[in-house]
Amino acid sequence: MATDANMVGDDSLGDRREDIPLADNFAKLEDICSRYMSPEQLSKVTQAYEFAARCHADQRRRSGEPYINHPVEVAIILADNLKMDEDVVCAALLHDTVEDTPVTLSDITLLFGETVAELVDGVTKLTAITTDTRDEKQALNLRKMFLAMSKDIRVVIIKLADRLHNMRTLAALPPEKRRFKARETMDVYAPLADRLGISSIKWELEDLAFFYLQPEDYERVARLVQDSREQRETDMATAISLLDDDLKRANLSDYQITGRPKHLWSIFQKMVRKGKEFSDIYDLIAIRIIMRTVSDCYSALGSVHSLWHPLPGRFKDYIATPKPNGYRSLHTTVVGPVRSRFRSEPTTCTSRPSTASPRTGSTSARATPRVA
Ligand code: MN
Repeated sequence: MATDANMVGDDSLGDRREDIPLADNFAKLEDICSRYMSPEQLSKVTQAYEFAARCHADQRRRSGEPYINHPVEVAIILADNLKMDEDVVCAALLHDTVEDTPVTLSDITLLFGETVAELVDGVTKLTAITTDTRDEKQALNLRKMFLAMSKDIRVVIIKLADRLHNMRTLAALPPEKRRFKARETMDVYAPLADRLGISSIKWELEDLAFFYLQPEDYERVARLVQDSREQRETDMATAISLLDDDLKRANLSDYQITGRPKHLWSIFQKMVRKGKEFSDIYDLIAIRIIMRTVSDCYSALGSVHSLWHPLPGRFKDYIATPKPNGYRSLHTTVVGPVRSRFRSEPTTCTSRPSTASPRTGSTSARATPRVA
């Protein structure tokens, strides 16, 4: 029977009715995939979707929506943020079919090939493991087990996307289950996402778990962040345009600068751990610069350090000494009209663009004079 706590209903394939409930969001997935997949790859994704929609035809989520919405949303997370290949997107669409419907792995192998079947099998096996993660050691063991059990790391990535969508829709579960899932997310899944260097998933998992585990603290931080939003957005825009001008002057091209607000859980951690008031936390916004080459990353760092004064002891060279997960980047914190933390992150894979990201924060009132 279904192990996905968010599912209700009959788990038989049923009579393959003509009126198969369709996902609300497949058009969105198709659109995202069409931006980076070939027509053949896209058609494999469509086939996986149609197959999964038939398998889950009689199932609904607790919210009452057709079950197929869930695998489609998981596939969207993997395609949109992470641009995963078509096998991963197909496996995401099919990830609950073996667990929750009469479909077998050999059906999947026959229709979609070995790789997709192995990915689905891996996800199914991870789903079968549950343990009490309130025990820190257990949580660590579980994380290790996840990594050891997955010959193909893409299995863990699918599982993370699966958990992310389940967390986004956690409100449909009874309160006791919500807390259990949120705890497990904080202790097992967010650290795994961190270990794999998938920060966008890590941040969202942490904030969702934070919301369910400490609703009052969450509300408080969210309100503080909301109140200072306008100032931070202005600061971020200013910093980005200064950087952009300076990089152009340095004859750098082919780069991307993006900014994001700092997520709530990490703000709260700083307030608690360092006993700081919200107004003392300056790096509330992050800016990332993506460069093409390693040497461009160092040039961009030079730009940042000439625009703003670096804070002592905050520079980290993860290019010379990459993190265990292969993450390579430059981090710095600088003081200026806005304070910034700067990162440049070339990936270990040389064919992919390298990345640089500074982090800017608000509270311009406390900013020291800019060093030009
Ligand atoms: Mn699932």
